Amino acid sequence: MFKLFKNLFEHRCPECNELLSIENTTLCMIKSCSQGHYKEETYSSLGVTIVYDSSKDDE
Ligand SMILES: [Zn+2]
Repeated sequence: MFKLFKNLFEHRCPECNELLSIENTTLCMIKSCSQGHYKEETYSSLGVTIVYDSSKDDE
């Protein structure tokens, strides 16, 4: 369930703890680390949050 990630990390990168930049598009809100560690897309109309976390990309 992607939604569970929503409040865990607030607005900081879990890798470098830098504040995430926030970008709003018509489709979703994108929060991302400027160094590319972490990206989160929130589709509020769908109630879905998709998290791309490169620090957990072990496979
Ligand atoms: Zn980072």
